[in-house]
Amino acid sequence: MSANPFGFRFDNSYARLPETLFAFCDPQPVRAPELLLFNGELAAQLGLDAEALNSDTGAALLGGNRPLPGGEPLAQAYAGHQFGNPTMLGDGRAVLLGEQLTPDDQRRDIQLKGSGRTPFSRGGDGRAALGPMLREYIISEAMHALGVPTTRALAVVGTGEQVLRDTAQPGAILTRVAASHLRVGTFQYAAGRQDKALLETLVDYTLKRHYPDRVGAEVPALALLEGVMDRQIALITEWMRVGFIHGVMNTDNVALSGETIDYGPCAFMDRYHPETVFSSIDQRGRYAYGNQPVITQWNLARFAETLIPLIDDDADRAVETAEALIKSHTERYAQRWLVMMRGKLGLFGEEDGDAALAADLLDWMARHDADHTNTFRDLIGGATPPGEPFQNDEFGDWHRRWQARLGRNGKAEEDAWALMGRHNPAVIPRNHQVEAALSAAVRDGDLAPVKALLAALDDPYRDRGPDDPYRQPPAPDEQVLRTFCGT
Ligand code: AMP
Ligand code: MG
Ligand code: MG
Repeated sequence: MSANPFGFRFDNSYARLPETLFAFCDPQPVRAPELLLFNGELAAQLGLDAEALNSDTGAALLGGNRPLPGGEPLAQAYAGHQFGNPTMLGDGRAVLLGEQLTPDDQRRDIQLKGSGRTPFSRGGDGRAALGPMLREYIISEAMHALGVPTTRALAVVGTGEQVLRDTAQPGAILTRVAASHLRVGTFQYAAGRQDKALLETLVDYTLKRHYPDRVGAEVPALALLEGVMDRQIALITEWMRVGFIHGVMNTDNVALSGETIDYGPCAFMDRYHPETVFSSIDQRGRYAYGNQPVITQWNLARFAETLIPLIDDDADRAVETAEALIKSHTERYAQRWLVMMRGKLGLFGEEDGDAALAADLLDWMARHDADHTNTFRDLIGGATPPGEPFQNDEFGDWHRRWQARLGRNGKAEEDAWALMGRHNPAVIPRNHQVEAALSAAVRDGDLAPVKALLAALDDPYRDRGPDDPYRQPPAPDEQVLRTFCGT
């Protein structure tokens, strides 16, 4: 542990784990590091000296040109199912600098993404392009403001170098802050080595770090599996609430902490439809909006497989136990989803018809190209939302059913509107706005639109009126139908 002028207070527990789990590896210096975005509020929460870091020295530290005091940079080893296929991966373009102990006694990984080649880079250059790093900064900070568990973004540093993708692009490094970078893929890597002791070590470590109330359970691996399942259900329910589509739910992108991690071709839906896909590499819709709960169950089953040797010495019994737990995902998710939808609809108490009331609205929305965010937001207050499709009889019937159900809330109307106001954001990072801001930054070197968008996303439940430009769905010619990994 060490203290220093920037407020770094590192205690690097991962570096003390067996070395098969990582490779010590320094970031590679860049030509001309420049702080393009810096998150002063997050810096302060981490106990860092925001003023001292928001400087050329800060750019050198977060660009990988100067070692962080107390840092022990390492690249983590992990495997993963990518679109269903098992693959050996590892941090190919990221290094964990260390674990910051915050003033409120949290432990946070400080990672540089785009910091150069590592032993896991395979054919890659270890670098990242500016557009995708700005994108991760915008979307992850928007998710945080929306109340969705997520990794955070501390800074984007321009490298002064070009990276070659389809074309030459400006290079950048993102400083990512995470509860940890333990993934389902970390366990898949250990299981692939058929190293039971290593798996036991990982189970203990993960329980202590993320599930302290489950430490000491009779079967630690089972307690971990259940804990991870609960948090993943909570997380995916939140994605569904705000219309978020992750886009690459490979097992290496499933964080055991329950945070959203790895913002690649992710996107928010404008018009509601369960089959919505944006990612250019997801041609079969494996990671479509409506598939996210089922894919999570699939990913959790892959996690369970790694734990079988630790669940029971009798392999058949271990499989049976794990399967029963994984099967329970369906019902657990359905219950959590219903609680969330009651919030979106302003419903107090529980009635048998609530699930159908919610499902019927979504079904109507899918058939009428209704905007996901604005439809729910416009229902607050009880009036019929503006726009032609809402004037039809079918919607009118639904609206009367909903009004009747609200009448049985046993609460003041204002309480329902307040509940809805907390569950339905007015502002989300709409793709056309994100793309326009990124294009100004990358093409013209103008960061003003990115900063304006970040400011608009900072308080997403505040009502700034129907004319707020950030509430407007895309015009037909503004629609973004595809997002690319870009990297
Ligand atoms: P992702 O799709 O972001 O989850 O990345 C999948 C894997 O590819 C991870 O192991 C990354 O570290 C690796 N990777 C992505 N881009 C690069 C790059 N430019 N150089 C080296 N490795 C990379
Ligand atoms: Mg990843
Ligand atoms: Mg990625």
